[in-house]
Amino acid sequence: SSDVCSSDLQQLEEKMAALEGGEPCRCFASGMAATSAVLLSLLGSGDRLVMSDANYPGTAELARNDLSRLGIDVVTVNFSDLNAVERAMSVNTRLVWGESPANPTMRITDIAAIADIAHAHDARFAIDSTFATPIATQPLALGADYVIHSLTKYCCGHGDAMGGAVLASAEHMHPIESAGQIHLGGVI
Ligand SMILES: *Cc1c(COP(=O)(O)O)cnc(C)c1O
Repeated sequence: SSDVCSSDLQQLEEKMAALEGGEPCRCFASGMAATSAVLLSLLGSGDRLVMSDANYPGTAELARNDLSRLGIDVVTVNFSDLNAVERAMSVNTRLVWGESPANPTMRITDIAAIADIAHAHDARFAIDSTFATPIATQPLALGADYVIHSLTKYCCGHGDAMGGAVLASAEHMHPIESAGQIHLGGVI
């Protein structure tokens, strides 16, 4: 019944929230559904996205091909070079997006340092933490505003299910819930 389904989903979201130390968690049909929900809910024409130059290819191509086509100014930089990240920031930078460890290069990002740079410029910081899992890293405690997981990977663990998750404060989650979950339709 739909009651059983909704309580299974609730349990998944509550467990992810408990593991990441974030409340709430919202789950999606795939990691890319979670990623596109965050990017398309928060960014609009004229906004700048400052993005790591090492990302899961689906995310990199979404930014380079689709977000650019929508008039979003996508600037990629090496997140190991904090001065380069600082230089990439601008008054219209709304979001900073990283991935740590990055797929497939395994490059690590200093999450706390990038969060500080983003917040100093009134931007939000989102990090794809798929490869870390909450066992290795809890980015919200380090200052990230959004944590994204492909549950398809290590969180699933058996290669037999697909999903995605977004964790954030209730305030930061609000735009993701209306635009990202309902309008874009990547529901789990
Ligand atoms: C696989 C992957 C994604 C996309 O996840 P899907 O569930 O396959 O859509 C996003 N980020 C990272 C780091 C990944 O490895």
